[in-house]
Amino acid sequence: MEANNIICPSCNEEVSRISVYCENCKFPISGTDKEKAIFIGQQTLNKSKIDNSESVVKRTQIILYVVVGFQVLNAFLVYYNFESVIDAVFYLVIGLILGVFAFLLPKKPIVFITCALALILGYYLLLFLANPLLLFSGILWKCVIVMALLYALYTVVESQNIKKKFNL
Ligand SMILES: [Zn+2]
Repeated sequence: MEANNIICPSCNEEVSRISVYCENCKFPISGTDKEKAIFIGQQTLNKSKIDNSESVVKRTQIILYVVVGFQVLNAFLVYYNFESVIDAVFYLVIGLILGVFAFLLPKKPIVFITCALALILGYYLLLFLANPLLLFSGILWKCVIVMALLYALYTVVESQNIKKKFNL
């Protein structure tokens, strides 16, 4: 370590003693004690936001798997009760695509939450066009799914911005 360098108390990276901010995490090296304390507090909050977004991703994956389960169940019910192969295949295909998105979700959360959201909204639109009553059956459940996906998207985007900004 160079003589003029210190270890950043926030991220443990080596930084110049005379720098105003840590280049790695933006810790106010030359700031007052109060500024340093505020920064540490904010970083704690940021870290908990990142942890939260990770558990939101897991929860979203479970919600999507549940939706997939219902789609598959629906496909079988439609097939046995109405013997409509086309409808059954349609429900099944939507379910399977959603299952793929759910499976890949932890790898690229923003991409696959957006894909799932687009697919589900497109699917609801098709239901509505086919028969407006279909959209309103289970409307509460449909709203919950869409809200959960929007919330997950917001949380993950916010967490990625924090990670980028503070090198967390
Ligand atoms: Zn730092």
